[in-house]
Amino acid sequence: MQNNTDNDTIVAIATPLGVGGIGVVRVSGPEAFAVVQSLFSQPHGQHDLPPSHLLTYGQIRDPRTRESIDEVLVAFMKAPRTYTREDVVEIQGHGGPLVLQRILRLVLAQGARMANPGEFTLRAFLNGRLDLAQAEAVMDLIEAQTEAGQRLALQQLRGRVSAQVQEARHAILGVIASIEASIDFPEEEVPIPQSNELTPLLLAAQEQVEALLAGAEQGKLYRQGLRTAIIGRPNVGKSSLLNALLRADRAIVTPVAGTTRDTVEEVANLHGIPLHLIDTAGITPTVDPVEEIGIQRSRAAAETADMVLLIFDSSEELSEQDWLVSQELRALGFDPQVDSRQVVLVVNKIDCPQRLNYEAVRPLWPLAPLVRTSMLTGEGLAQLEETMVSLVTSGKGLHSESALITSTRHRESLRHAAAHLQASLASLHQQLPLDFVSIDLRAAYDALGEITGETASDDLLERIFSEFCIGK
Ligand code: GDP
Repeated sequence: MQNNTDNDTIVAIATPLGVGGIGVVRVSGPEAFAVVQSLFSQPHGQHDLPPSHLLTYGQIRDPRTRESIDEVLVAFMKAPRTYTREDVVEIQGHGGPLVLQRILRLVLAQGARMANPGEFTLRAFLNGRLDLAQAEAVMDLIEAQTEAGQRLALQQLRGRVSAQVQEARHAILGVIASIEASIDFPEEEVPIPQSNELTPLLLAAQEQVEALLAGAEQGKLYRQGLRTAIIGRPNVGKSSLLNALLRADRAIVTPVAGTTRDTVEEVANLHGIPLHLIDTAGITPTVDPVEEIGIQRSRAAAETADMVLLIFDSSEELSEQDWLVSQELRALGFDPQVDSRQVVLVVNKIDCPQRLNYEAVRPLWPLAPLVRTSMLTGEGLAQLEETMVSLVTSGKGLHSESALITSTRHRESLRHAAAHLQASLASLHQQLPLDFVSIDLRAAYDALGEITGETASDDLLERIFSEFCIGK
C-alpha cells in the first residue's frame, strides 16, 4: 500500500486493452509534465509547456532514436484541479495495444513507475479530493448495470451518502464533546449533562443511522441485482419467459458471460434492479446422460438463485414431471416456509384452452404468489414483474430517488455504529457512569468514519483499492 509520502510519478493505460479508436495513457505525479515533455514534440518545434487543461496536438517520439511512435493529443493538467490533485498528463493515442504499450514503455523509461490497481483513485482519496465512499462510487459507476444503479453511484460520488453519514457523525460528536468536557474539567463548573438531555440527542443520531440502514437492503439489490432462475418441465415456456423479460427493456439489456459452470446468464432490467436470469435446461430427472449434464447445471444455478420463477403450463394437466420439478426445488432448499429465498408460481399459456387443475398446484407451494401469464400475448408479464419487486422489497416498493447505501462494507459499518449507539443508550438508561456512554459513542463515531475513510486502516484501503483495475 502506498502512503501519503509516496512521491512517485505513476503511469498506466487507462482505456481497456484491445483495439479502439483512441486509447489513453495517464500519468500522474510531480514529474508527470517533465516525463511527457521529453517524449512529446509539438509542431513548428515549439518547446513551451502547453496551456493547462487543453488538448495539444503533436507526436510521441522515442527520445533516443527520434522515431515517431504515434500522432497524439495531449492534455497537461496542472495540480490541484485534477483527478489526483497532482500534475496529470493524459496522452490520447491511437487505440491499438501495441501503440499504447510503446508509449507506456517510453514513459516508464523516463522514470515513471507502473501504477498499482486503483492507484489514481487512491491518490485522489489520500490527497483529499474524494472521501472513501466517493472513491468506491467511482468503481460502482463504472460497473453499473442499470440506470438506477448508475444514478445511485453518481449520487454517492457526488457525496450524498457521505453527507448523511457525516451528519450522523456530527450529532454523535456533539454528545461526546459535552460528556468529555464534564469528565475532563470537573472542577471548572462544566455542567454534567443529564441523561434526559442526552437521550433525545442520541435517539436522533440513532434514527439517522437506522434510516441509512433501512435503505441498504434496497441499495444492495440495485448494486448486486437479483439472481433469478426460471424453472419448469420442458415446453412450459421457460425460454419464452426469459425472452419476454429481456425484451421488456431492451435498451439496457447486456448479455454477460455465464459465471458458473457454463450456464448462460443474461441481465434484464426489473424496475432498475439488474435481474440476472439464469437460463436452465430444466431440472427434470432423466436417464439420458447428455441431458443429465444440463440438469446438473440447472441444479447448480438454482442453488445459488435468490428467486425462482417456477412455470406451469395451464393448457395441460399437472404431470408427474411438474411434480418432480417441485420436489427437486424443495430438495435444493427452496421452501417459502423455512427459506428466505422466494418462489413465484407462473401459470403460463392462459390464452389456450385451460386444463390445469389449480387445486393440484396450490398444495405444492401454499405460500408462493401465483401469477397467470401468456407469453404469446404478453398478458400478466407486468404483473409478474410487480410481484417480483414486491417480494424482494417486502411489499415496500422501490425508492430509487433517495440516497441508498449500496455497499456491503458500508452496511457493516452502519450495523456496528447502530449497535454501539444502542449500547450507549442502554448505559445511559442504567445510569452507568458517563465514561461508559462515551466509549460506545466513540466506537459508533469511528464505525461511521470507516465509511468516509477518516478512520479506515491501511488494510482496509488496500482491500478496497486492489479491486479497482489498473489505470483507474
Ligand atoms: P421451454 O421448453 O420451457 O423453454 O418452453 P418454450 O419457451 O420453448 O415454449 C415451448 C412452446 O410453447 C413454444 O412453441 C412456445 O411458442 C409455446 N409457448 C410459450 N408460452 C406460450 C403461451 O403463453 N401461450 C402459447 N399459446 N404458447 C406458448
